[in-house]
Amino acid sequence: MSTLLGHPPFLPDESLFSRLIRLARINGYDTFYILLSLIYEETIKRGDKTDPIGRPMRRETYEFLSTLTYSEVADLYSATPHIFSTVLIPPDYQTQLLEFSEKFRMPVLGLKHAHGHLLPDNAGQFCPMCLEESSYHRLNWKPVGISVCLKHQCFLINKCYICGNALKVADIVSTFCSSCEANLKLCPVKPAMMDAFGLFTQHTLYEWFMRGTAYSEENYQLPKEPINVLYRVLTGLRLILLTFPTAEWPDAISIFV
Ligand SMILES: [Zn+2]
Ligand SMILES: [Zn+2]
Repeated sequence: MSTLLGHPPFLPDESLFSRLIRLARINGYDTFYILLSLIYEETIKRGDKTDPIGRPMRRETYEFLSTLTYSEVADLYSATPHIFSTVLIPPDYQTQLLEFSEKFRMPVLGLKHAHGHLLPDNAGQFCPMCLEESSYHRLNWKPVGISVCLKHQCFLINKCYICGNALKVADIVSTFCSSCEANLKLCPVKPAMMDAFGLFTQHTLYEWFMRGTAYSEENYQLPKEPINVLYRVLTGLRLILLTFPTAEWPDAISIFV
């Protein structure tokens, strides 16, 4: 197994899927799927089932990708939705650990806990202004609950503004819709007009998912409970909102729907 010749580093908060797509392009593979077949060929040779490439579940896949892309295994893992395990795996559930070495074991997020909370592996949403700054997919665009770019104070977009098709991560990295070739950098920006509590909830979700820590805001004290417990409460609230959609909820709460 050799290393790809071009192997630029991860960009800030870049998802693994995004990095692999960029690497395929930089190394002259016409499509990401040629690189993918190379990866899967190796997996099948080992007699394993294919591993979800944006969210690998096996140590061998990380080791293979580490050699292929000249990356540390820890950096590859940090770019996957597995880092959301702290938030998404309920407190009463025994977390499955992926053992990279005796001292390095990390939680694995299965589909069971990702479903409904994260966009599917291939699906993407994006901020047009972030994309204009740099063309790659950010891991913090994966959680369904994060609906706003805090840097640009605008809503994230998950459908093409021309044809309305659901966007894939590959569309976002290429910056063009694969159905109608619309330039996603030109997508109209939808400003997020939120009150202070609405912004607080988005900041909180961002800190929970991306940093695994509580967001400190002295105006809104949250109970000192683990993040996965607080997130469950939030999910319950969201369910109530979906059950009673016609009720007049404050904007700050409606943002979860
Ligand atoms: Zn942005
Ligand atoms: Zn389109």
